[in-house]
Amino acid sequence: MSRSYNLNSQPKAGRFSLDYQAELNEEQYAAVCSKPGPALVIAGAGSGKTRTLTYRVAYLIEKGVEPKNILLLTFTNKASREMLERVRELVPVDISDLWGGTFHSICNRILRRHAEELGFTSSFSILDRDDQKSLINSVIADCDIDTKDKRFPKADVLLTIFSLALNTGADIPKIVDESYPYFEDWIEQIVEVGAKYTKKKLEVNSMDFDDLLLLTVKLLKNNLDLRQRYQKKFQHIMVDEFQDTNHVQSSLVNYLVAGQESIMVVGDDAQSIYSWRGADMENILSFPDRFKDAKVFRIESNYRSVPEILELSNSAIKANRKQFDKNLKAHRTGGSARPALVALDDPGAQANFVAQRVLELRDEGVELEEMAILYRAHHQSLEIQMEFTSRNIPFQITSGLRFFEQAHIKDVSAFMRFVVNRKDEVSFKRMILLLPGIGNVGADKLWRSWVATGWHQREDNPAKFSDILLDFKPPKKAQAGWEQLCYTLDELVNGGEFARPSSMVYSILEGTYDDYIRATFDNYEQRKQDIQQLMDYGEGFDDIMEFLAQLSLMSTADGDPSGKKEQPDDESVVLSSIHQAKGLEWKVVFVIWLTDGMFPNGRILDADDQDAMEEERRLFYVAITRAKDELYLTYPMINPKSYRGDLVQTPSSFLDDFPRELVEEWNVSSAPSWDDHDFGDDPF
Ligand code: ATP
Ligand code: MG
Repeated sequence: MSRSYNLNSQPKAGRFSLDYQAELNEEQYAAVCSKPGPALVIAGAGSGKTRTLTYRVAYLIEKGVEPKNILLLTFTNKASREMLERVRELVPVDISDLWGGTFHSICNRILRRHAEELGFTSSFSILDRDDQKSLINSVIADCDIDTKDKRFPKADVLLTIFSLALNTGADIPKIVDESYPYFEDWIEQIVEVGAKYTKKKLEVNSMDFDDLLLLTVKLLKNNLDLRQRYQKKFQHIMVDEFQDTNHVQSSLVNYLVAGQESIMVVGDDAQSIYSWRGADMENILSFPDRFKDAKVFRIESNYRSVPEILELSNSAIKANRKQFDKNLKAHRTGGSARPALVALDDPGAQANFVAQRVLELRDEGVELEEMAILYRAHHQSLEIQMEFTSRNIPFQITSGLRFFEQAHIKDVSAFMRFVVNRKDEVSFKRMILLLPGIGNVGADKLWRSWVATGWHQREDNPAKFSDILLDFKPPKKAQAGWEQLCYTLDELVNGGEFARPSSMVYSILEGTYDDYIRATFDNYEQRKQDIQQLMDYGEGFDDIMEFLAQLSLMSTADGDPSGKKEQPDDESVVLSSIHQAKGLEWKVVFVIWLTDGMFPNGRILDADDQDAMEEERRLFYVAITRAKDELYLTYPMINPKSYRGDLVQTPSSFLDDFPRELVEEWNVSSAPSWDDHDFGDDPF
């Protein structure tokens, strides 16, 4: 006897009857429901590009496309999770087979299946930055490079050079020449280390982040059979934020879609802000040339912001020469306050203002997570971090570590901690391990020499550290650095008296540390600026103990001195660099430090480089277009604690790019406190 059995049919068109026309505007609808084939959605910020992609996925599934045949490439994994979550709400279908994620995560998935083809095994490790550094250090040790007379770039710097070369397609000497001219004498050795590093990774069956992309491209390029299999699998490929793809990512997309060309990319040339990482705006601009018959959709409405904010954004980006003219129209109705332009006395007042407004807005019912403070560079968040900490305003930082948790701030503090507390073995070792030629064994020996002098137990300060320390026997290679360190320490105690906190930071930076960060870190300028900020902060203290205590308390501001990260408060204000804020939106946005030198960045201003300046302006555009309801543009008029002396700040040149009537200028004055009143001798 046989049994009849029917397979249920897969969801087909019309099953969910989503009302696309009601949820989308005409242009979005046209893109979402377009016939398969290359398509480009190019539109300004907040016009619903990401929303269009989300609905496109839903539409395809509704039309019967199987989720496993869809590839969705997003800027972050979080963005992909959120988009797929939304798709699930729209079409109640199991979409776990859909491939969604960043370029790196998708490449990882491909490589796990075919690593053998490249000489790796499928269990290859992915190297994080620390792993990469130790691997590169072992390569340097093997290369036998004589670094006695001249510093060889440290692992971090080398990794950045290699990565830039791969991501921009330029060769290593060119990168060194353009970005690291002070390492020019080492070009030959740098190239050698690069080649050996690549070999070593294969030997230890490990890939770094760049390899994930490059090796996938290599795999698809060299293996026609495999390439065709993936092309067949991914019948629909979608890419968000396409303006920030680099040439490796672009060729990956080309290999995956070649032939059937079912690709939809969305982006905004006015928001291209990653050229420093090799992103090439040409990828989006030349899309219609590369994909013949590509349909181009332009969305002209902005759904995110009130018209007052949108008008300012449209106007602010106009000054750029290189752009497609778009004039977004506001979908939302007007009548809100114009964006606020707020000049404050100094950075402290700026932080005060932001904190006070945040608290007021919270009282008015705006939730803390609906507010964001955005800035050009991480160190510009310092005063805000301090002000929020002292007012108990919960915040999360997406731009990096909390200021005082950063390695270079801790390094500089180690010098001061040691001179103040001479039993502090950890700080002593942290400090001397910075010297070239001193490793753990050497550090231990020197610490024992220090203990042997008995000075670690004495209450009084040595008049000169060098009188004691110069008698020690550091490793030969470290002799010059050691002497330099001794003289630096002398400056910190000034004949037995502690120097002021800010001069201590100055001496440490100038005497020893500057040399170290230049050779060690890829972002030398930024770290130097951080330390200068620390110096400014130190100006507010006379007493070094108080200063150090404050630093320690600030770095454990999460309340856990063990250093473990707490889960970010659900209800917390976001502090973010503008780069990290891409694609996101908040009800209220503060853009701070709008002064020439801070934003636009000083180096770019000095270099007078028109292209770089246009990218800065796009960054400004990204910042202000994150705001839905309220936007505050703030800047300090003076920066009295600047290490360069009293410094009157010039308001950012971006503020001249739009007519003043588009903003409302706020005059902020300090309410008199009781301490300010002169009541005479006996007022009552
Ligand atoms: P960005 O350039 O910043 O990445 P975007 O173009 O991707 O922005 P989205 O983030 O997709 O824009 O949309 C901005 C906001 O507008 C979101 O809150 C979105 O839900 C809303 N939105 C977009 N289109 C519509 C629409 N047709 N109806 C209602 N809301 C919409
Ligand atoms: Mg988007």
